[in-house]
Amino acid sequence: MSALLTVRGLRLGYGRADVVHGLDLTVPRGRIVSLIGSNGAGKTTILRGLSGLLKPRGGEILWGDGAEADIAGEAAYRIARRGIVQVPEGRQVFANMTVAENLRLGGYRVSNAEAAQRQEAVVARFPRLGERLSQQAGYLSGGEQQMLAMGRALMADPKLLLLDEPSMGLAPLIVEEIFAIIAALREEGRTILLVEQNAGAALAIADDAYVLETGRVRLQGPAAEVARNPDVAAAYLGI
Ligand code: ATP
Repeated sequence: MSALLTVRGLRLGYGRADVVHGLDLTVPRGRIVSLIGSNGAGKTTILRGLSGLLKPRGGEILWGDGAEADIAGEAAYRIARRGIVQVPEGRQVFANMTVAENLRLGGYRVSNAEAAQRQEAVVARFPRLGERLSQQAGYLSGGEQQMLAMGRALMADPKLLLLDEPSMGLAPLIVEEIFAIIAALREEGRTILLVEQNAGAALAIADDAYVLETGRVRLQGPAAEVARNPDVAAAYLGI
């Protein structure tokens, strides 16, 4: 399985504080890789580093789509153009804009005709969005806003989707629905890096998993093996 993304020795931080201390991570093409860990472990910081929102302090981010390139330190818009698209924590949809307008923003680089086709595909994936295209996004439920944030990212036809805590604040049934959609996106061939505090749900759908503690990888491996690790079960799965 070829790697779409290979991270080596990545260091990230804010001000005088180092937060991520030399991360090694591989995201194989067509797989779901999950990063789990408690509050403040550095999961969001890693996603921000990968998408160019935070400049790395060291290390390499090798993007293996075509000619391999080290994209560490590249501007966020260039990284987005390469096909790395982040769905931020807390969804961050534009509340005063309609669902359709939010989706159009995700596909801002393509023609109206192409955007219309992509919107059709998004609506097929998220029928609830189709019923609400002309509604203001601020009136959607939390689950629908998560779907909209994911739909907006899909409008850019991403090669790597970075999902930050998609289950946050959602009822268990909606979480199930969102995770079923994430698994379906993999079946379509998408590659996903999933950051989650809901370790049980993440490990159930991921292929590989990394357990992060205070900016360091504590454990990594196939998700099923990580889930069976007694320390992980006790700390993150409540078993
Ligand atoms: P959470 O689930 O709470 O988001 P996380 O694993 O995603 O946890 P991060 O948000 O990456 O963790 O935070 C890692 C560390 O970096 C924390 O100690 C946090 O206080 C610090 N941190 C995060 N953002 C900033 C910032 N903008 N400025 C300074 N420190 C920050």
